[in-house]
Amino acid sequence: VIRPALAFALLLLAAVPAAAQDLLLTNARLVDPHTRTVRTGALLLRGDTIAAVLDAPPVGYDGEVLDAGGRWVLPGLLDLHVHSYGNLSPWGVESLGTEAAARRMLYAGVTGFLDLFADEEVIFALRDRQRTGGLLAADVHAAGPLLTAPGGYGTQMGLPTRTVATPDEARRVVADLARRHPDVVKFAYLPSEPGVVSMDRTTMEALVRATDSLGLRTVAHVASWEGVRDVARAGVTALTHLPLTPLPADVAALLRAHGTAVIPALAGEFGRTDLATPPWRDAPLLAAVASPAVLAAYAAPDTSPDTLGTAPGGALQVRRAHRAAVLAAVRTLHEAGVPILAGTDAGVMGTIQGFSLHHELALLVEAGLSPWDALAAATTGAGAFLGERVGLRPGDRASLLVLDASPVDSIRHTQAVAFVVYRGRVVDRARLLGDGAADAGLPLGQALVDSFASDSLRSALGTTWRVYRDEAVGGASTADVRVSGGTLHVEAAIRPGPGGFGFVELALPLDAAEAPRDVSAFDGVRVRLRVLRGSLALKLRTAEVTNHDHPAVLVGPSDAVQELTLPFAAFGPLWSPPVPWTGRRVLGIALSVGGAAAEEVAYEIEELAFYRDEAP
Ligand SMILES: [Zn+2]
Repeated sequence: VIRPALAFALLLLAAVPAAAQDLLLTNARLVDPHTRTVRTGALLLRGDTIAAVLDAPPVGYDGEVLDAGGRWVLPGLLDLHVHSYGNLSPWGVESLGTEAAARRMLYAGVTGFLDLFADEEVIFALRDRQRTGGLLAADVHAAGPLLTAPGGYGTQMGLPTRTVATPDEARRVVADLARRHPDVVKFAYLPSEPGVVSMDRTTMEALVRATDSLGLRTVAHVASWEGVRDVARAGVTALTHLPLTPLPADVAALLRAHGTAVIPALAGEFGRTDLATPPWRDAPLLAAVASPAVLAAYAAPDTSPDTLGTAPGGALQVRRAHRAAVLAAVRTLHEAGVPILAGTDAGVMGTIQGFSLHHELALLVEAGLSPWDALAAATTGAGAFLGERVGLRPGDRASLLVLDASPVDSIRHTQAVAFVVYRGRVVDRARLLGDGAADAGLPLGQALVDSFASDSLRSALGTTWRVYRDEAVGGASTADVRVSGGTLHVEAAIRPGPGGFGFVELALPLDAAEAPRDVSAFDGVRVRLRVLRGSLALKLRTAEVTNHDHPAVLVGPSDAVQELTLPFAAFGPLWSPPVPWTGRRVLGIALSVGGAAAEEVAYEIEELAFYRDEAP
């Protein structure tokens, strides 16, 4: 039986032979979050859009056909809160780069994401490259930098922010940023956090008005109910995170009245414990997208302060109270008609790029949303937020997730990925899990890594030094990092958390997109430096090492600046068996200090370069 609405599409098909790029997906159970129905039918995909939704294959169609075998077909999932640099595990930072992270997301059925804070030079370039067709990975949408107060939240993370202190400055910064076409403008507003510097309310309101007047959406990072009320009244498009205390009686109606959407990011808030616990710990999709070192880190006994305190009134009990409060708030907001959107905060402790969206959906259902509501939060709702056509209607984008089991029966079934369709084509998922070997093989055309000539953390390679600290693993180490007079000065106070390691690490990617680079044409690293106090590990981060134990050389104190010529053979692991050095998959250079004890470390570097032995 052909429904009247479909007759026109069918007639067209009968009259016009299949176009070269057509794909007909037949025998599918179509899971449509718009109509909240599941019905058996077929989808005709033409280019990157859905051309027709059919009850049965059209007569006379002679293009490519894919039998879905009665599987469940839904729009590809969207994650609206991502930091796509990689993963943070209890053992440290796994820097994948946005491109590899986006491939892992696509493998997991997350066909698009919104990065909410990254190095703007890197993320906008990658996004624009993808939009011109150069990247098989989840669609990249990006905020670029975080807007925050000078010295405020986010300025400590080793990523370039844009700071605003006054309403005038907010207008100027927004106008300047708008030239790069951010998909949203993200800012931090933390007016009542003890010890945290925040922009004031007037500045925040000017920022939102300026963004709004340019037709751009805003996402506010908040942490208190006062912050939630202020940003809603100011007219933000969405806020992300929810305070960890019970929802005050007035807030649901206030958000509803202002049309404010909420991206609660539950996976980032509660993933640390869940990833270490069945059923999440044992999920096959987790094992597929997370690297062995990251899995091992979560499987190791949890010594974080959050879970050590098992006494009544201890940290664990407080954590459970937070979880109950936040899930109850999500439910109340949803029932009041506040749009709840799916985002994970992927990149923070407790998240895995690609996997955590499935965790988020389950947490939304745990909070009290129906599976349909949760699916809408990651598909049609998220698409509406981004201004994208997401759904199973003609004209919607042809990025689809095909499942072996019904996500309406159990939201956990979103993990049962049979295959993924991206922009109208079935994706070779196995290839996506490779680490981007296709991008390597580019010889590094330049021996000089950095001579700190620019008086900034921008290197001679055009990439930027990032400062990583141990905050996320319970440490309180601090660092003063300056570049002046052609020298990088670092003074670090290492303060490990209970039972953990303290560290301060400066890491420089060799490639702006953080792809591995081939440095096998060189013979080693030459460095002019002086360690004043403690010991410095100079590391070569390679994609061939997956346990964070990258080849390193330890340098101790000296009375004067020394020039060290370090052949690659001098670099070795600090605690694990050596991995053979090829030099073909090098991600970057890192300067790492720290350990299990509190200490003060200081060092200065004047120049870092790869070198080649002269021919004899
Ligand atoms: Zn975040």
